[in-house]
Amino acid sequence: MPFYDAGLQFSCTRCSSCCRKESGFVYLSENDLSRLANEFQMSYTDFIKAWCRWVPFNLDRERLSLREKTNFDCIFWNEGCKVYQARPLQCRAFPFWDFVLDSVKAWEPAGKDCPGINSGKLHSKEEITGFLRLLEEEIIIERDMLQIGGR
Ligand code: SF4
Repeated sequence: MPFYDAGLQFSCTRCSSCCRKESGFVYLSENDLSRLANEFQMSYTDFIKAWCRWVPFNLDRERLSLREKTNFDCIFWNEGCKVYQARPLQCRAFPFWDFVLDSVKAWEPAGKDCPGINSGKLHSKEEITGFLRLLEEEIIIERDMLQIGGR
């Protein structure tokens, strides 16, 4: 039985601490790219050139990630998330990521960096496993996959 069988509390306070000041990868799936490119009315190719970078994955592969600023803020952070409605699944699903949900030992420390964890809305086990399923199903774009939707 997972430790979150009775659900977990989380409500994002939009404090932005997970979007700023620390380097990290924000991977994009095809759905993410479609939503974001649509938000900017750009082709996939132009959106990737303007806002993305290729980052190493598993030694010999590269995944598509959002860029970050020189101070490590997310490229779309500017007094808050500028693409909140179209933000990537990775951001939508936080903190219900597999390694954070691995055990209470992983979940509790995450709460030290995120004031939304263990407060606010109670998410049922079904909601949580729904996020896990989506994260597993959405395929992150890798460099050799770029025949996406013919755009
Ligand atoms: S650290 Fe937590 S509360 Fe703050 S923006 Fe990120 S998810 Fe929201």
